Amino acid sequence: MRYSGFQVLKQGLFGNKGWRPAWREPEPKAEYDTIIIGGGGHGLATAYYLAEKHGIRDVAVLEKGYLGGGNVGRNTTIVRANYFLPGNSEFYSHSLKLWERMERDLNYNVMHSQRGHIILFHSDGQRDAAVRRGNAIVNRGDDAEILSRDQLKRMLPYLDYEQTRFPIYGGLIQRRAGTARHDAVAWGYARAADQRGVDLVQNCEVTGIDIVNGRVTGVQTTRGPIRAKRVGIVVAGRSSQVAAMAGLRLPIESHVLQAFVTEGLKPVIDHVVSFGMGHFYISQSDKGGLVFGGDLDFYASYAARGNLPMLEHVMEAGMTLMPMIGKAKILRGWGGIMDMTPDGSPIIDKTPVEGLYLDGGWCYGGFKATPASGDCMAHLMATGEPHPVARRFRLDRFREGQLMDEEGTGSQHNLH
Ligand SMILES: Cc1cc2nc3c(=O)[nH]c(=O)nc-3n(C[C@H](O)[C@H](O)[C@H](O)COP(=O)(O)OP(=O)(O)OC[C@H]3O[C@@H](n4cnc5c(N)ncnc54)[C@H](O)[C@@H]3O)c2cc1C
Repeated sequence: MRYSGFQVLKQGLFGNKGWRPAWREPEPKAEYDTIIIGGGGHGLATAYYLAEKHGIRDVAVLEKGYLGGGNVGRNTTIVRANYFLPGNSEFYSHSLKLWERMERDLNYNVMHSQRGHIILFHSDGQRDAAVRRGNAIVNRGDDAEILSRDQLKRMLPYLDYEQTRFPIYGGLIQRRAGTARHDAVAWGYARAADQRGVDLVQNCEVTGIDIVNGRVTGVQTTRGPIRAKRVGIVVAGRSSQVAAMAGLRLPIESHVLQAFVTEGLKPVIDHVVSFGMGHFYISQSDKGGLVFGGDLDFYASYAARGNLPMLEHVMEAGMTLMPMIGKAKILRGWGGIMDMTPDGSPIIDKTPVEGLYLDGGWCYGGFKATPASGDCMAHLMATGEPHPVARRFRLDRFREGQLMDEEGTGSQHNLH
């Protein structure tokens, strides 16, 4: 069934009885050509691009819970391509281009909204860094502009410009950046992959990886063993645990990251705004809730909820930047398990086990990467070669010392 305005009208006139389930609920087969472990955004996108671009349709996505129940449905939905370092910059540029055609490609409304993302700067040094980053982004072919304090005052009148401790000097805006509805991205890729013959198997946890003579032969699951020639590990915060099933020790630690949403308010924040002097960023959802978050809780954990010290830090930063949010009531807070690498950049690579591939280490920035991650992982699994924009996301870069430390925070997982 194609989704369209006409379809909405037609179904509305006939009692909405004609909608069909967005995807099938197949029993897992005994064997597939390719298995993707993990039904988050990246796993579903990988399956979609395997089928769509490479004609590999004998594929199963095995998800231990329900599709979209992981980080893809827990993030704060920011989509941008304002990375600085070679390696990251071309990858995220590719990703943003895929975002711009995603709704047409998938025939699904993911509510992609290019409302602009602004990083504030609060000192001369930060302005220099913002100009340098902006120039790098423009040289690569994407958009970036420096905004003066007066321009900002007109665009974001609700910020506290007179703050004596952290005065606002200006901002770096990427107008093509913005937000999208996070779980719709999972549903859109799921539906499109299912339409191309991919089996999406929910409530199917992978509990073991079968290896014979250094080659992957399949997986053990809570719904029985399944054979496959190729297996992709695409499980975000669970990367280290699942890779350990194949005897691999990854340079990935799992940390909890929190986010918060207020009650619905009238439109007040038109952009995504990032504070430059504390980890705080905010946007407003289409339902009216102010969606905001901060930094990691700074300890390794598999709990999908956080603790009070980071919550307090985020609220303080919010109050410092825009005291008016003190009037809003927090509706919910939650956490997600982030797959942190030592340099804050991801991995899309083969593993030492033949036929076993890894897509992980997305830290707290993997939502915006969803389409390019799927595209590049599918390319790698189908051709055996890295996609040109993901060449540097190698697993051995940590051993070789070829780090891509975008934040310049050093080689500690919890500092990225
Ligand atoms: C609070 C928060 C805010 C964030 N904000 C942003 C943002 O604004 N912008 C941005 O770009 N990124 C953001 N992120 C990061 C982003 O959400 C993640 O990097 C990205 O979603 C990870 O990829 P995924 O969607 O495939 O992960 P997930 O959705 O977590 O998918 C992994 C899946 O694997 C499944 N799985 C795990 N183990 C097994 C197993 N043994 N067998 C079968 N299945 C298994 C899990 O159940 C899960 O569904 C944020 C994350 C959080 C938590």
